[in-house]
Amino acid sequence: MPRRLYACTPSRLNTWLDCPRRYRMTYLDRPMPPKGPPWAHNSVGASVHNALAAWWRLAERERTPEAAGTLLARGWLTDGFRDEAQSAQMRGRAREMVERYVAGLDPSDEPLGVERTVATRTDRIAVSGRIDRLDARGSELVVVDYKTGRHILTADDARGSLAMAIYAVASSRVLRRPCHRVELHHLPSGEIAVWEHTDESLQRHIRRAEQIAAEASAADDAYRARVPAPRRGEGGAIDHAPFDELFPPRPGNLCAWCDFARHCPEGRQAAPQKDPWAALPVDA
Ligand code: SF4
Repeated sequence: MPRRLYACTPSRLNTWLDCPRRYRMTYLDRPMPPKGPPWAHNSVGASVHNALAAWWRLAERERTPEAAGTLLARGWLTDGFRDEAQSAQMRGRAREMVERYVAGLDPSDEPLGVERTVATRTDRIAVSGRIDRLDARGSELVVVDYKTGRHILTADDARGSLAMAIYAVASSRVLRRPCHRVELHHLPSGEIAVWEHTDESLQRHIRRAEQIAAEASAADDAYRARVPAPRRGEGGAIDHAPFDELFPPRPGNLCAWCDFARHCPEGRQAAPQKDPWAALPVDA
């Protein structure tokens, strides 16, 4: 019998690594337990990503910094902010951020892909994901990921990113060109964190992805063989106990940002939930 491929995204693999219980609630429990309120930093991130993608879709002569600012303001997402004033303040900052960023780009340097989905498979996994931008530089491809969070990123972040390594391998296979360089473009600071992979380091990431997938896939199969969905107890609380051996909670600081913390007593105890706007710059 040929082995069934585990279909996944880098995000699914990382969720398994971060917390198997959150993985179960995200990918297996149906209906999915209701998530907490939306996060303002996700609204900022999505608005910036959308504006940059739309900017590259403009005709070359229209790709000006002002156009990027207009696209940002027009598509601004308002979920998660404390109030209208905070949303407006962040919209202004984000507008400046994208204008400054595209002012440093060459509008004629057409990327090979913008928000491009790429996929690859091994004999164990079929993995796909969407790249923010795929550049062609010389004979090689470069994977570019936009970041809008507070923390400045380093070459180690680029080196350790499972997602970017998978995108590099998938891009190379789809477009039949080598791809070793991955870049994290941190828009708030203008810094770019770069890593040049080798074929070996990319293969190490792929093997790691396969190991994670093997664990998650075995847990998926056991889940499906048991009960269709977790029972609800008094007041609608989820009874996690029958699943905890396969999908243990992994309480820690990240629980403060978990969309499912309200269904997870261990997580709530580990870290109090943050306000939806807590990841914005401290003076916002
Ligand atoms: S709150 Fe923490 S332990 Fe609970 S599901 Fe979320 S990440 Fe896991």
